[in-house]
Amino acid sequence: MIVLKFGGTSVGNATNIKKVANIVNAYQESKIVVLSAVSGTTNSLVNINNLLAEHKKEEAILLTNELELTYHTLIDGLFSSEYYQLKALTFIRNSFDYLRSLTNNGVENEKIILAQGEIISTNLFQIYQAQLGNESKLISALDFMSIDEHGEPDMKNIQNKLNTILNQESNHNTYITQGYICKNNVEEIDNLKRGGSDYTASLIGAAIKASEIQIWTDIDGMHNNDPRFVENTFSIDEITFDEAAELAYFGAKILHPQSIIPAQKNNIPVLLKNTFNPNDKGTIIKNCENSKGVRAIAAKDNIIAIKIKSYRMLMAYGFLKNIFEVFEKYQTAIDMITTSEIAVSLTIDDATYLKKITEELQVFGNVEVDKQMSIICLAGNFSQSGKGISASVINCLKDIPIRMISYGGSNYNMSLLVITDDKVNALNLLNEGLFVQKQLQEV
Ligand code: ADP
Ligand code: ASP
Ligand code: MG
Repeated sequence: MIVLKFGGTSVGNATNIKKVANIVNAYQESKIVVLSAVSGTTNSLVNINNLLAEHKKEEAILLTNELELTYHTLIDGLFSSEYYQLKALTFIRNSFDYLRSLTNNGVENEKIILAQGEIISTNLFQIYQAQLGNESKLISALDFMSIDEHGEPDMKNIQNKLNTILNQESNHNTYITQGYICKNNVEEIDNLKRGGSDYTASLIGAAIKASEIQIWTDIDGMHNNDPRFVENTFSIDEITFDEAAELAYFGAKILHPQSIIPAQKNNIPVLLKNTFNPNDKGTIIKNCENSKGVRAIAAKDNIIAIKIKSYRMLMAYGFLKNIFEVFEKYQTAIDMITTSEIAVSLTIDDATYLKKITEELQVFGNVEVDKQMSIICLAGNFSQSGKGISASVINCLKDIPIRMISYGGSNYNMSLLVITDDKVNALNLLNEGLFVQKQLQEV
């Protein structure tokens, strides 16, 4: 079995949904199709929740009505048969009546509201498949996708529940399900965080031991640098799980930060493909040859750097343990860490407990906090044979102040911390120095 996941743009309008159906229906083998919400819908649902939080229910209803109208346009373009058009319109009317009813209880229904985008896209896709004369089975992610008390996927549970459903419903070739949404440990509707449909696809792939996980999006695979900020990026044919995991975690938006791990644990290749250029081979993520040097660059924003300076006890036994315990207490993950004789600097991306964390750290020394920082992550092969790579990287950034450097934690990651205002410049300089110049030399 294979898993095919389509993102928001891929199901963003009638024309695109038709492309998705063509891709799905070209596969003879049995498959699970994971869909995101229609692009823009989750953002609107977030905005509806924000309005409810500000007690602006009428505005929330107005936004809900506006969103409903966009689905009328989509249905107009998608359904040629009156029967299926009516079916889709009735479904949309019921879904939006339900959504409006959810606005009655202030912010109480936040997660249920957020879940509606994927519920709507999957239902519409199934109705469209029926219009095409293609049988498919819609399975609700809420019946098998679950997270534990820490918000982490409950793999055993997912595996048991999903395989039970698939055994009970074994006579189908195409299963359709929602990305992103799940149930939590107290059986409430929850989600896998923004962009989480990639994670759903990978978790499903791991649960059913799929032969391949395909992530279909709006670009021809993983690029060597962030195409939103850098010109002349190019797609990479193949990349290792480790490299892809680093890039996803450190900001390559094409993949949800955690989405590579379930596939990697089960050695399931992940193929990144472009819905709008299906003949392009895309990028395959698998156990493959390591690159030589830098394979790709990504950047993660909203990073906070914390420096703890202590003249007395920094390198004393137990000092770092004391510091880490503060972060553990507030369940805040540390991304980068560097030390010197008199100070330790580290970064976090979750500011929820920043005030409490800094207060507690002050017991151990002077604490300085820098906000609006970005981590630039270079993924590739930095083993000993790659002599001179760090020199080239530093040379590219000679005009940019670097706040932290982390190198040697693994063979395939090098991270640099810069202020966010310098990020785009840094990405472009690295692209020029590490890829464009190199290509010119090779010609
Ligand atoms: P989807 O809605 O299909 O999940 P996303 O918008 O989440 O799509 O991810 C695809 C986008 O990721 C691309 O359009 C591109 O702008 C962005 N992106 C950022 N970094 C990279 C990268 N290294 N390679 C490819 N795309 C990237
Ligand atoms: N619809 C969700 C979002 O916009 C999940 C996803 O698209 O992956 O974040
Ligand atoms: Mg995405």
